[in-house]
Amino acid sequence: MNAIRFVNYSRFNSMLKNLIKTISIILLLASCSSQDEVVVAIQPFKGFPTELTDSVENAIQRFYGFQTICMQPVPIPESYFVNIKSPRYRADSLIRYLKKTKPKGVDFVTGLCMQDISTTKRDKFRRIKKPESKYRDWGIFGLGYRPGPSCVVSTFRIFSAGKAKNIKRLQKVCLHELGHNLGIPHCPDADCFMRDANETIKTIDFVEVNLCVNCQARIHKFRFQ
Ligand SMILES: [Zn+2]
Ligand SMILES: [Zn+2]
Repeated sequence: MNAIRFVNYSRFNSMLKNLIKTISIILLLASCSSQDEVVVAIQPFKGFPTELTDSVENAIQRFYGFQTICMQPVPIPESYFVNIKSPRYRADSLIRYLKKTKPKGVDFVTGLCMQDISTTKRDKFRRIKKPESKYRDWGIFGLGYRPGPSCVVSTFRIFSAGKAKNIKRLQKVCLHELGHNLGIPHCPDADCFMRDANETIKTIDFVEVNLCVNCQARIHKFRFQ
């Protein structure tokens, strides 16, 4: 009897917590629609740890001064799965999904997952970069269009160091992809997180968590529907 009562109580507790979270998101969205403040939603995909979403929210608040909200985790649609070189999810499809499901009152969405993600790497003429077998399905840290309402970042290729370093890498990649959404191109400054990673994690470790003055001036707060 006691065990049953305990189960019911904890279920009630988690329902209450979810209800409070939903109400606070609705209240936040309602209050944002009348202000000129930028709101970034964090969309974790199933299995993504809460402590990591917190650190991403902190970085976005600190470096861009935007308001953030964290959404309930959702599964990655299985139709985005490919196994061309290895098991991955297509980042372009994930970005489109995040754009489509972006709540009203939210300006940008940053998706976070632990699964490997990929895109097709193209040259300036939009042709697949050579060798095609290498770049047709190219594993990446994150992807964000310039400009765009959504980006996605995966821990799969960046979590190979110690905990503190991993979190710093995750924050830098999230700030970088959100930077593209805000209209910022790659930056030649060696001490700016908008520097092109150039296919290596070493570049990300090398730059500070810093946005140079040139890039700061290029921030454009687009309003997407
Ligand atoms: Zn980039
Ligand atoms: Zn810069």
